[in-house]
Amino acid sequence: MKYMQELSRIADEVWNHPEPGFLEKESSRIQRSFLKEQGFEITENIADTMTGYSASWGSGKPVIAFLGEFDALYGLGQEADCSEYHPDGNEMGHGCGHHLLGTGAIGAALMVRDYLKETGREGTVIVYGCPAEESGSGKAYMARDGVFKDTDIALTWHPSTIHAVATGSSQSCIQCYFRFHGIASHAAGSPEKGRSALDAVELMDIGVNYLREHMESTDRVHYAITNSGGKSPNVVQAEAEVKYLIRSTANSKCRKLYERVVNIAKGAALMTETSLDVIFDEGLSNTVINETLEKVMEQSFTECGAPVYTEEERAYAKKFHDSYEMPETIDDIPVYVKDKRKLLNNMRTSDLCDYIVEVNSSDICEMGSTDVGDVSWVVPTATLNTACYSYGAGAHSWQWVAQGKSSIAHKGMYKAAEVMARTAEKLFEDPSLIEQAKAEFKERLMGESYECLIPEEIKPHVIGD
Ligand SMILES: [Zn+2]
Repeated sequence: MKYMQELSRIADEVWNHPEPGFLEKESSRIQRSFLKEQGFEITENIADTMTGYSASWGSGKPVIAFLGEFDALYGLGQEADCSEYHPDGNEMGHGCGHHLLGTGAIGAALMVRDYLKETGREGTVIVYGCPAEESGSGKAYMARDGVFKDTDIALTWHPSTIHAVATGSSQSCIQCYFRFHGIASHAAGSPEKGRSALDAVELMDIGVNYLREHMESTDRVHYAITNSGGKSPNVVQAEAEVKYLIRSTANSKCRKLYERVVNIAKGAALMTETSLDVIFDEGLSNTVINETLEKVMEQSFTECGAPVYTEEERAYAKKFHDSYEMPETIDDIPVYVKDKRKLLNNMRTSDLCDYIVEVNSSDICEMGSTDVGDVSWVVPTATLNTACYSYGAGAHSWQWVAQGKSSIAHKGMYKAAEVMARTAEKLFEDPSLIEQAKAEFKERLMGESYECLIPEEIKPHVIGD
């Protein structure tokens, strides 16, 4: 397995340096220096994303890009390989497998580079090191900045607990702060002189909770009070702030829902005679799927085959079995899985997914958001999933962190690189597939063009906790 050792080493190094969005300095450096050694041309700080980079090889058309990520999550420090919750003292951990994600994209690019060299074909392969996926909307800034304007096809993957081509859309979202300004006063002596910003926050939250009955069932609104105005009940709170995350199934719908939430905030300010600032934080587009690319990817996966696991690896996965709940019925299996019973049975008899799960292409919106959505609005994009973790382990969990350096994780990453590379090779060999993917892309947009949800004046920035 060519490059397996190098790729595993890089993924482990990134795992050892878990870093937050836009601050992935070490992770980005490790990857850039390896790609440079491999003869790729590096551009740093793309779209002013600080740690974002591109690494390209080859020349001319078509241009095929692999998207990688490398940010980690707070609150998830966990000892490697330990099957019990055991924080390792690290503030952060790779609970979403982005150390594998970014490295797998590099692996695919190396394989395609070798293919282009061997065949003498024209074409360019690019790795995009995309920062701040978890929070920060890295790819949205890149898409807004026109980074992908010359890219013909974008391919990416995400670590998972199953081997399957990913399908289904994701939610569009907007995150912002509502900051209320009131007047401080003695809460007993002169309450009539005070105007409470905390009251405004509470009334806004109540208003939004009433809104829930009148939203679509697929809409989601979450909030966190980020400033409750201090610890003193005997002071009328002059400053208070609440952070909202607003999600819907499409950009246009998300904008409308956002306006409704803003109106409630204005109402709360009016009721409490406070003033209001709305501070935009981040925004992501829904995902536009591409069935043409999904099919090419599925065929490539079948040709490459699922990884074969050793008895030791199966025993390793089994160690984690009791630490989570397993799906009980076929209703717990995603709707797009073709044979739900087969998957459920495999889960009951094995702790690792050891076959390729077939899926029906679906544009049903899954709950949750990703910045891959923004890329999918500007270039035909497809995503692969490979099992890097045992069945039952959920994303953003200590179990994912613990298993992140295992041979199972490395095999999943390597398989993703192989399948993405094979998919790209098919596209280089038959450019009519690229044309088909582009025609489908155009059809799915139905005349709409990409408008980033993040206003022009907002620049890439580190997201507060
Ligand atoms: Zn992720």
